[in-house]
Amino acid sequence: MKKYDLHTHTYHSRCSNLRPETLLKKAKEKGLDGIAVTDHNTIKGALETKRWNKDKNFEVIVGEEIMTDKGEILALYLKKDIRPGKFHKVIKDIKRQKGISVIAHPFATGIRKNADQGLFKHIDAIEGFNARSLFKFENIKAQIKAKELDLPVTAGSDSHFSSEVGRAYTEFDGTLRNAIKNKKTNIKGNNLFSFIYRLRSSLKKYLDI
Ligand SMILES: [Zn+2]
Ligand SMILES: [Zn+2]
Repeated sequence: MKKYDLHTHTYHSRCSNLRPETLLKKAKEKGLDGIAVTDHNTIKGALETKRWNKDKNFEVIVGEEIMTDKGEILALYLKKDIRPGKFHKVIKDIKRQKGISVIAHPFATGIRKNADQGLFKHIDAIEGFNARSLFKFENIKAQIKAKELDLPVTAGSDSHFSSEVGRAYTEFDGTLRNAIKNKKTNIKGNNLFSFIYRLRSSLKKYLDI
């Protein structure tokens, strides 16, 4: 089984100070086989991380966390930046690049919710575990929703700081693309003390400390 953390940030997100090389080092220390780097509205961090990676047995997926009018979408396997915009436009842009779309933290508290029923049929997967969730029920609700709709689930730490890397991960056999297509992914993670990390991000973003 491979283990990928499918939601990570670097200093290309204003709420993070994580350097790509540190992110890589931490991910390997944690025993991960790959990560998706998903900075807010840019693939810069992902490209930079990919350049740092010299290990053929470790995969860096170029991703982005894109803001839409319906909440945030994770896009995996991108070639170009996708600009924030209307939900349907963003989904179309992801498809055009043959990327995978994942609805991020659909039931999260404290950020705009994107659990609107009509959205799920347009996406490839649901983030069933986000380690920055403040409450357990947010992730449980996402997992129940995925089951109900027969959609695959992904998990990611949503790490913005080095100590968060690998706090959640997706397990699968073969390639991630196939695992998602065949709905054969498992998710693991813990969201203990997530509020501290969330607070730290706010301080970083607004006060730059
Ligand atoms: Zn952030
Ligand atoms: Zn995020």
